[in-house]
Amino acid sequence: EVLIEGRGIWKQYQMGEVTVNALKGVDFEVYRGEFIVVLGPSGSGKSTLLNIIGGMDSPTKGELIYDGRAISGASERELTQYRRNNVGFVFQFYNLMPNLTAGENIGLSVEIANEPLEIDYVLEKIGLSERKNHFPSQLSGGEQQRVAIGRALAKNPDLLLCDEPTGALDLSTGVEILKFLRDFNRELKKTVMIITHNAGIGKIGDRVFYIRDGMIEKIEKNEKPLRPE
Ligand code: ADP
Ligand code: ADP
Repeated sequence: EVLIEGRGIWKQYQMGEVTVNALKGVDFEVYRGEFIVVLGPSGSGKSTLLNIIGGMDSPTKGELIYDGRAISGASERELTQYRRNNVGFVFQFYNLMPNLTAGENIGLSVEIANEPLEIDYVLEKIGLSERKNHFPSQLSGGEQQRVAIGRALAKNPDLLLCDEPTGALDLSTGVEILKFLRDFNRELKKTVMIITHNAGIGKIGDRVFYIRDGMIEKIEKNEKPLRPE
């Protein structure tokens, strides 16, 4: 079952006199429950693509369809609803609120969601029940990223979009984060898309979208995706 469909997606940025074509006619589909790695060098258009899929940005041309509904061309209000109900975001630098505890950071997304998960259940899932009342500054980088994943998970979205989720972490901590994402993909049936410039991460995806210069060059299927380790 197709969850997300991109058809001829273009994105242009106007920088004064200069037009930047960040995406140049991108076509793809993502099936429900897949784990997709979007791999490409810096500046190739990965973040632009993720922002369009997440409803944070609109394509200049083309269509983005989520679960049979056209997202491109939706109003600002509809986009906000779409993001709230369907998409959890994980960023390279965690983006936690520094003056809120781990539990409160997770609680932020519980407040806005239609059918949220319980904060304590989420803390248990990310293995941080003992850190509920810790502030981000009292947590290691990996723990902060787990809280960020917990926050994304708590609103119980079908889709998790992760922008270089291991980019600020050392290798073993990064692997641990990838394990969590893979587990939530399998156990909780979340569709996951990770963007990265790290080719090693490609091996853990069900499929890899190779993106270069605003185009998907190639889509590769891993018959046996590696377990992160
Ligand atoms: P990646 O995530 O692969 O590093 P991006 O999607 O961030 O690539 O960027 C793709 C291209 O679009 C780059 O040339 C970048 O400079 C340009 N770009 C991205 N966002 C903007 C913006 N808001 N305004 C102008 N140019 C942008
Ligand atoms: P890492 O090895 O990932 O860099 P740290 O050495 O920063 O991790 O932290 C190791 C452990 O100590 C973590 O479990 C973290 O929660 C705890 N910790 C780190 N800094 C503080 C702090 N300022 N107050 C309380 N606990 C802390």
